[in-house]
Amino acid sequence: MNAPPEFVRHLGGCHCGRVRFEVLAPAHLEVGDCNCSMCAKTGYLHLMVRKEHFRLLSGEDALTNYQFNTGTAKHFFCSHCGIKSFYVPRSHPDGFSVNARCLDEGTVEGMTIRKIDGRNWEEHYPTGRGEYS
Ligand SMILES: [Zn+2]
Repeated sequence: MNAPPEFVRHLGGCHCGRVRFEVLAPAHLEVGDCNCSMCAKTGYLHLMVRKEHFRLLSGEDALTNYQFNTGTAKHFFCSHCGIKSFYVPRSHPDGFSVNARCLDEGTVEGMTIRKIDGRNWEEHYPTGRGEYS
C-alpha cells in the first residue's frame, strides 16, 4: 500500500475477532465525533481513510450491511458480535471510515477529536463531500 512516509500501520477489528483489518494513517490521528442519529448512539469515532489505505484481512463473510436514509453509507457490522469497526460513510463514499475505538493498542500515539455536525449533514458538508486528513 502506498502512503506518505509518516503513516504507520494500525491493526483493528470487531469485538469477537472475526473482522480484522489494517489501515495506514498517522500515529497521531485526527478523528471525528459525529452527533447524527447513528453515531451518537454507538459512540463511533471516525478515522476517514482513502480506500487504498485500508485492507480487510478477515471476516468478510461475517459482515452485515445496514443502509437507511439516502442509502449512500454502507454500515457494515459484524453479524456475530454486533460491532461496527469500519464502514463506507456518506461523506466519503469512495473511502472508509474506521472506528478509532476499534484499533488495537500500541500504534496510536494520540488523537485530536473534532466535531462533525452530522445532524445537519447538508450544512456540514455543503459540497456533499468531506476531506481526508
Ligand atoms: Zn465480531
